[in-house]
Amino acid sequence: MAGTEFSDEPVFKLKLLVDKEKNKVVLAEVCKDFVDVLFSFLILPMGTIVRLLQKYQQNQKSQPATIGCFNNLYKSVVDMSTEDFLTEPCRHILLNPINAKGRECKRLKVNIDDTPVPKYYRCPNLEAFDSCSRAYSNFCSLKCICGKFMEKEINTTEGGGPKEIFGSGKKSFIILDNMEVGYCSIVLTLKALRGLGYTDLNKLDEMLVDVGHKEVLALLECLFSSDTPLTDVFLMKRSSCIITRTHIMPNLAVPACGKTKPNELLTITVFVRKQDKKVLYAESGQEFVDLLLIFLAVPLESLWKISGANIKLGCIDTFYKSMKSLSSSEGTSVLTCTSMLPMNYNFQAPLLDVCCKDSSVWTVTVNSGGLL
Ligand SMILES: [Zn+2]
Repeated sequence: MAGTEFSDEPVFKLKLLVDKEKNKVVLAEVCKDFVDVLFSFLILPMGTIVRLLQKYQQNQKSQPATIGCFNNLYKSVVDMSTEDFLTEPCRHILLNPINAKGRECKRLKVNIDDTPVPKYYRCPNLEAFDSCSRAYSNFCSLKCICGKFMEKEINTTEGGGPKEIFGSGKKSFIILDNMEVGYCSIVLTLKALRGLGYTDLNKLDEMLVDVGHKEVLALLECLFSSDTPLTDVFLMKRSSCIITRTHIMPNLAVPACGKTKPNELLTITVFVRKQDKKVLYAESGQEFVDLLLIFLAVPLESLWKISGANIKLGCIDTFYKSMKSLSSSEGTSVLTCTSMLPMNYNFQAPLLDVCCKDSSVWTVTVNSGGLL
């Protein structure tokens, strides 16, 4: 189970440029390892973000920040009983979604995702009986066709994945208070300062701050609730937190496969109040509920891509765009690679333009002909 307590030890030292008069962080100079940690926010499944922030807020005894309706969606799964799901693991992987890059994230200097890396199990009778399931399971509590628990752990070996987690040859970066990240250079620093209206550097002071797990979680929280996360986290100016939302219907991203096929449509009945056209509730079949719940397993980056960037929430949009731009300037489509769900979430109706993780990254030493 997830639940490892984080250490309070500082891991990074960040150099901040601070406007003392306004009590505001102007920019931070950070190393590549810290940018890697920020990158990892984008690959966190939404359910993990809700769970981590709830735990963090409980520890801080602060008001829980809401991420759209995701907290409600997560709570619905918490409140449902195991009988509502096909198996107990089905519920478990929604409450503790698998991070498709979980193994790579273990190499981060600060890895806030405490979800255990999935293990692989098979039936212990596999060699003896042809009728046994050739599939592997991530849960030893599931039974094979022969009636035995799938409890024999399979040794997995890491494939030839990239050495770098998010890949960048550059050593240092700057982050503006709105979480815009860029390569550190004198030209960019001066441009950023001029853009913020600072022509006189005498007004700015340098400040060194320690960053550990707690601060990284605070930054994640502020990403959704503030337009000045650095100031909020390091100068304790939480009052500047704002949440802006637009109510424009998002332009949904067009699925990569082109036209919608009949089997990619779901029908729901919506009950609308006539006076103000407000949807009161909807009735749907199981497939639509499956689709909604699978949102908990979708990584933040994929969610932002699907939403068409019409939603304004904290400074996530600025952060996402600058990370994407950094990623493409490296000549790699790092973020595109993260737009994926682990194999277990291969939803029947491909309504989400999110690909599933390719199993070739890991060598599983048994014939894996199917899934759970
Ligand atoms: Zn068996």
